[in-house]
Formats: sequence, C-alpha cells, structure tokens
Amino acid sequence: MIVEHLSENDIQQYVSDPSACGSQVARHIETCEICQVKAETYRVLFSGIQHQPQPVFDFNLSDLVLSQLEQPKPKFSWEIMMVYLFSVVGITAILVLCLLLHDYFTSLFAGSSTLVFYLFVVIAFTSLVFQGIEIYRNYQKKINALNIS
Ligand SMILES: [Zn+2]
Repeated sequence: MIVEHLSENDIQQYVSDPSACGSQVARHIETCEICQVKAETYRVLFSGIQHQPQPVFDFNLSDLVLSQLEQPKPKFSWEIMMVYLFSVVGITAILVLCLLLHDYFTSLFAGSSTLVFYLFVVIAFTSLVFQGIEIYRNYQKKINALNIS
C-alpha cells in the first residue's frame, strides 16, 4: 500500500479514467478518506466543466476575420518563368539525347542479361523515389518554417 497520499495528477487520472490507473492508486483511494474527498472534488469540477455551455459569438467570426485578410494578387514573376524555361530546356535536351543515343542505349544492354537491365532500372527508380521524397521533405520544412513565423 502507498503510505503517502496520492499526487494531484494521480487523483485526476483516477477520476478521469480509473482503468488507466494502477491497482495501488485505486486501493489507496478506496481506503484513504482525504484522497476520496479530493477525488470527489475533482469529479464535481470535471462534471461542472463538461456541463458548461459552449461559448457562442453573436457574429460570424470566420467572416469577420476573412474580410480583413488581404487577398493575394497573382503577379508575374521572372523567377518562376526562369524555372519553367530551364525545365523545358532540360527536358528537351534529355529527349534530344535519347533520340540521338537511341542506338547506343539499345546496344548497351544487348549483350547483358535481362536481370542486369532490370537491376539497373530498379536502382534508378529507387534513387529517383528517394530524391523525390527528400525534395518533398525540404519543401515541407520550408513551408512549416514560413507558417510558424
Ligand atoms: Zn491518501
């Protein structure tokens, strides 16, 4: 048996969810009159909190806040245009290289077995997936940093 009285946290835990407490806590509360009084006080307090009416505004809070927010204006950005331009140039360069080196690529795996080819494809795909995940994580970190500040 616990000789000292229970802490406030133990009593609150017992009142809110008796099954989550240990058997020593339950046994102490059953035998100790002081802790029973504290537990009953918390029961009354918790039920009073639960029966509190929900606060209600007499106006629509979301409409009031949204009306004060500034609407973002779409604007032309050279940085975004440069990203699109480099993307188009890069994709075009890759396609042109694939067309020019088509014979080389087809002869590259001609002598090797299909297992080596599939291994190459799996490794390339896996590394692309991991790089994509890393890029997405960095993006989320930056967005979270912007949202916090
Ligand atoms: Zn006690």
